[in-house]
Amino acid sequence: PFFRAIVRELDEKDLHLTESIPPQETDPTDFKSRFLKKIRKLGEGNFGMVELCLYDPKGDQTGELVAVKSLKTENESSNLRREISTIRNLYHENIVKYKGICNDEGGANIKLIMEYLPAGSLKEYLPRNKSNIDQKRLLLYALQICQGMEYLGSQNYIHRDLAARNILVENESLVKIGDFGLTKSIKDDKEYYKVTEEQDSPVYWYAPECLINRKFYKASDVWSFGVTLYEIMSYCDRENSPPQVFLKSIGRSHGQMTMARLVDALEKGWRMPRPDSCPEMVYTQIRRCWSHAPENRVDFNSLIQEFEFFLT
Ligand code: ADP
Ligand code: MG
Repeated sequence: PFFRAIVRELDEKDLHLTESIPPQETDPTDFKSRFLKKIRKLGEGNFGMVELCLYDPKGDQTGELVAVKSLKTENESSNLRREISTIRNLYHENIVKYKGICNDEGGANIKLIMEYLPAGSLKEYLPRNKSNIDQKRLLLYALQICQGMEYLGSQNYIHRDLAARNILVENESLVKIGDFGLTKSIKDDKEYYKVTEEQDSPVYWYAPECLINRKFYKASDVWSFGVTLYEIMSYCDRENSPPQVFLKSIGRSHGQMTMARLVDALEKGWRMPRPDSCPEMVYTQIRRCWSHAPENRVDFNSLIQEFEFFLT
């Protein structure tokens, strides 16, 4: 308001001066709910939902398309707030871009405004475009995910929900990491984040130390990346999704015991087998992500070098 008052005063005194003042006198990250027009639902998870909207302040359909994440129930707003405070600090070409928030309907109703990636997540994109995507393309996606993850780790964040459903597709040669809903920041003096609250976890993407001790290291994201790469190399085939593969292997009827079975199998060294469409050399990398002990796993930096080598 202070700045604007000065602008107005100058405006009246000298018309030329207004031209040299930046035209944006309002905060570009502050989106008004009255200008957000829902077009369609893009996706929905346990707590949140993401919608495609047109942000059209001029009201003449010239606005921009944005993806808007909100909560299904209004009270659980703290997770989304944490997600917003994470994503707004991240600047990398393989991480979905934060645009702003919409919070003018009162506290609990906060919304996250992101750039819209027209091709959706790899989980929708890969099965649909299978015939046009060769293995080299898949490895390019793997490389880009590793580059985004290397950056995320350099900022001391652990993603905790790396999976094909959370990798968004900008176009056929660019993917970005999305969904920072479970992301945690680790303190400089700590190597891991310990989860305290009980919540729905993507258990088939989780490393043993996450399932057993609730400890999340950067190397736990590497394990999840291995599962994500497994999904990518099988073109996100529903019949061979990680939960399907595991349940086929141990049997479906264990109810409450399923988690214990999963942990037991992993501790005994069971791993998802190589998908038919996955070359041995790529499966070798996947297996390096699935070493039992976090300290024995490959890191994102070495994976980047491997994929760069494959791609040259
Ligand atoms: P949740 O925390 O509910 O899993 P996500 O952030 O993963 O929410 O979004 C859910 C789904 O919405 C994604 O799997 C994807 O299909 C779609 N989606 C999310 N963000 C975008 C975006 N920026 N552009 C296009 N689609 C998106
Ligand atoms: Mg998600």
